[in-house]
Amino acid sequence: MNHFKDNIESNKQNKSVKEKGNIIKQVKPCSYDEFIFEFKTWTDTWYRKIQLSVDRNLSLFPGNTGDYGELFGSLITGKLGTQSGGSGFDLSNGVTADEAKMCIWVQPQKCKCGTDKQQKTLSFFKNEKCECGRDFKYVHDSRWGIDSKAGVEYNDLLDNYIIQLIEPVKYSHDNMEFIYSCYFIDGKDKNFHEYLVNQNEKSNKSNNCNLVPYSFDFYRGHPKLKVRLNIILTENDSIIEKVFWNLNNEKVEKMPFSVLKQNEILLLDNSFKVVNIKENLMNLEKNFNGNPADFLPLRNKNLDKDRGVTSRKI
Ligand SMILES: [Zn+2]
Repeated sequence: MNHFKDNIESNKQNKSVKEKGNIIKQVKPCSYDEFIFEFKTWTDTWYRKIQLSVDRNLSLFPGNTGDYGELFGSLITGKLGTQSGGSGFDLSNGVTADEAKMCIWVQPQKCKCGTDKQQKTLSFFKNEKCECGRDFKYVHDSRWGIDSKAGVEYNDLLDNYIIQLIEPVKYSHDNMEFIYSCYFIDGKDKNFHEYLVNQNEKSNKSNNCNLVPYSFDFYRGHPKLKVRLNIILTENDSIIEKVFWNLNNEKVEKMPFSVLKQNEILLLDNSFKVVNIKENLMNLEKNFNGNPADFLPLRNKNLDKDRGVTSRKI
C-alpha cells in the first residue's frame, strides 16, 4: 500500500485550481500514520546499515539523507518534487516552493593527532582507542547548507525552509536511539532574509549559508517545530515514538540565553552583571519578557575565512 500515491490520486480533482495563471499541483499534507509508514521504510534499515558499516568500515548509515529530507518535506506540505537537481527549489505546487534540508549529527569520531587539517576518524559505532593512545571524540558539527542566492533572488516564490535534524540520544558507540526533528523557517522571515542577504552580498567565496542547528542564527530565524520523533532501533526494525506532531504549529522556538555572547546579553539588559554569570544569566532568562530573536542584530561574521588546506587521506 502506498499512501502517498493514493493521496495524489484522490486529490486529482482538486488540482485544477488556478492562481496567478498557474495551476496548483498539490496534494493533502499526510496524516501522522501515513508519515510514520514512509518514515519507517527508512529507519527499519538503520540497524542493518550500522552493522554493515562497522564490519566493512563504510558510512552506510543513515544513507540517502537528501532524498529522504525531500520526501518527508513533501509528505508534510503536500508539495511535489520539482526534479530540479539543485538548480531550483526542491518542492513546489506550481506557484510557490519549499526547500527541504536534512542534517545528521551522527558523525565519525575524531582524534586531533592527524597531520594538517586531516584528523584521524573512526565510525560513530566503533569502540576503539586511537593508535596515539587518546580516546576519539564525538563531534556534531554538520550543518544545513542553504543557497543564499536562490533564497534572495527567488524570495517571492519561497514558502518555507523545511529543516530536519537526526541526533543520537547518547554520544556513545552503542547508542541505538535517535531523535528526528523537523522545523519550518518562513522564507519571508525578516531576520532570516537578512542572514541570507548578508551571505549573498558580502561573501566573495560562497553563496552557501552553513546554518548550525540550535545556533544563534537558527533561533534568530524564528523556527517552528512541526515534528519530533524518537527512533529506537531493534535487530529487525525500528520503533517510532511520537514526541511532537502538529503541522499547523506556529509557535516560534524561543532563543535560549545560552547561545548569546556577553555583548548581546548587555543589549537585552544593560544591568546584567558579569560576576556570577551563570546565576545571573538564569535569572535574566527567567525574567526576560519576549524572544531575544526579536531584539538582537545579525552577528558580524568573517564570511571569507579561509577554511585551510585539506588533504586526501590515502
Ligand atoms: Zn589520535
